Amino acid sequence: MSPDVLIIGSGMGGATLAAALAPTGRRVLILERGERLPDSPEARDPAAIFQRGHFKPDEVWRDSSGAPLHPGNYACVGGNTKFYGAVLLRYRAEDFRPLRHIGGTTPGWPIGYEDLEPYYCRAETLYRVRGDVANDPTEPPHSAPYPFPPVPDEPDIQRLRAAFAAQGLRVSALPLGVDIAAWLARAKTGWDAFPCTTGAKSDAESCALAEALRHPNVSLMTGTKVTRLVAEGRRISGVEVERAGARSTLSAPVVVLSAGAILSAALLLASADADHPHGLANRSDQVGRNFMNHNLTGMVAYNPFRRNRTIYEKTIQINDFYLTGGPAGEPLGNIQMLGRVTGPILAGEAGLPLWLASHIADHSIHIMAMSEDLPDPDSRVMWRNGEVVLDWRKTNTQAHDLLVRRLKQAMRRAGWPITLSRGFPKSKPSHQCGTNRMGTDPAASVVAPNLKAHDLDNLYICDASVLPTSAAVNPSLTIAALALRAGDHIARAQA
Ligand SMILES: Cc1cc2nc3c(=O)[nH]c(=O)nc-3n(C[C@H](O)[C@H](O)[C@H](O)COP(=O)(O)OP(=O)(O)OC[C@H]3O[C@@H](n4cnc5c(N)ncnc54)[C@H](O)[C@@H]3O)c2cc1C
Repeated sequence: MSPDVLIIGSGMGGATLAAALAPTGRRVLILERGERLPDSPEARDPAAIFQRGHFKPDEVWRDSSGAPLHPGNYACVGGNTKFYGAVLLRYRAEDFRPLRHIGGTTPGWPIGYEDLEPYYCRAETLYRVRGDVANDPTEPPHSAPYPFPPVPDEPDIQRLRAAFAAQGLRVSALPLGVDIAAWLARAKTGWDAFPCTTGAKSDAESCALAEALRHPNVSLMTGTKVTRLVAEGRRISGVEVERAGARSTLSAPVVVLSAGAILSAALLLASADADHPHGLANRSDQVGRNFMNHNLTGMVAYNPFRRNRTIYEKTIQINDFYLTGGPAGEPLGNIQMLGRVTGPILAGEAGLPLWLASHIADHSIHIMAMSEDLPDPDSRVMWRNGEVVLDWRKTNTQAHDLLVRRLKQAMRRAGWPITLSRGFPKSKPSHQCGTNRMGTDPAASVVAPNLKAHDLDNLYICDASVLPTSAAVNPSLTIAALALRAGDHIARAQA
C-alpha cells in the first residue's frame, strides 16, 4: 500500500489523528517503534512494576550536565497512554488566554476554548470519558454531557469528599477513561502507572487506534523506528526507518510527527542537513524550546489510627485554587487524587522496607498537587552526539509550594495530620509538552494553529509538543482534541 498519510507514533496524538482520518478513506500508515503490550502476570503486579521495574524503558537520555537520564517514557503501541492515569480533563477556558501567574504571564493560545470545544466533545466520546460537570468552579461550558456518569467514589473517598466540603472546598468528579468494572475484573489494583492489557482503560490503543484499524485503509507497522526525516525544499521527501535491523526509506504526500514532545523535537533536530543546519521546521529556532512538564507533588497523608480501605482512590479533584489563591490572586493549580499507593508501590518509590511501607500506605490517603509550568525558551530538548539532552528548567515553583501548603492544611483538617510529600523527579517527564509550539507567527512558533509546520508544506506535528502552555490539568484530552481538529483540516486540505 502506498500511503497518503504517514503518521510517526501511535500514542495519543498519532492514534487519535488516525481515527479522525480513517473514515475519509485516506490510506494511513502508522509507524510505531514499539510493539503491542501483551497481557502478563506483571501487568497487574505492583511489586513487578514499582520494585522490580519490569516495564521500565531501557532508553537513556542525558540531562544538562551530561549525566545519564533514565526517563519513564514508554515505547509501545499506544505510547505513554498505556500507563497513564486516564484523567481526561479539558483545559479551562482561561488557559487559552494570557494569565498572570506568580512566575510570569503565559502567552495565550492562537485559538480560543470555543474553537476546541466541539473537538473536546468528540474526544470525550472517542475515549469514553466518565464525568460530571457539577461543582467545579472552573469547569468551562460543555455543549454535550459526558458520555458516561463518573466512576463512583469508594466509601473512604466519600468521607474525604465530605471532610473537604466541610472546610468549604468544592469537590468534583475527576473525569476518567476507565471502565471500572472491567478494570477490577482483571485484578483489584489502581490503574495509574499500570499498563492496560485488556482494553478496560481508555487509552490510545484501545480507543482511537482500535477505531482507526476497523477501516481497511489504515494500517500499523510496529517495531519500526523513524531515525530521520529528509527534506527537499519545502517538503518532507523521505522518512528513514529501522525495522528488524534493516534500514529503508518511506514516503507519503503528508507526514505527521506524533512521537511525543521530547522525541518529536529530537527527531527534527537530528534531521539537520546542509539546507537546514539547525534542524527541520526550525527557522524560528523554537524547536525543542519551551519544554514544560507541570510542577507535580505526590502526598501521603498519614494517620496511624485510621485505615484506608480503597482499591483505586482516584475519583475526586479540587479546583478552588486553580485560578486564584496566590498573594495577589494568582493561580496555584489543581488538586487531584494520586491513585491508591499500596505497600509495594511505596516500598519501590520510597525505598522503604515492605512492612513499613505497607503500614504507612494502608493508614494514609494519597493525593497530588499540580501547578502550571510556564514556557521558558531556555528549558529545552537538544540533540547532541546522537543523544537526546533534556535541560528542563522548572518555573512557577512558588505557586506550587503555596498549593502544596494549602493541600497539607486541608489534609490535616480532614483528619490526616502527618503529611509526607515529594516532588515528581525530573526522570519522569510524564506530562511533557511544549517543544514545537503552535502559533501564528512563523518567527516565534513551529506549527500553525492547524498543526502544519510553518516551514514545510507537507509536515504536521500532532502530539503534546504543540501545546503553547501546560495549564495545570493533565494534557491528553487536549492533545486528542487538537488531533481531531487537525484531522478535519488535513481532510479538507488534501481533498
Ligand atoms: C505514568 C503516566 C501517567 C500519566 N497520566 C496521565 C493522565 O492521567 N492524564 C493525562 O492526560 N495524561 C497522563 N499522562 C501523560 C500522557 O500519557 C501523555 O500526555 C500522552 O500520552 C502524550 O501523547 P503524545 O501523542 O504526545 O505521545 P505518546 O502518547 O507518548 O506517543 C508517542 C508515540 O510515538 C512513538 N515513537 C516515539 N519515537 C518514535 C520513533 N522515532 N519512531 C516511531 N515511533 C516513535 C512512541 O513509542 C509512542 O507510541 C501520563 C503519563 C505517564 C507516563
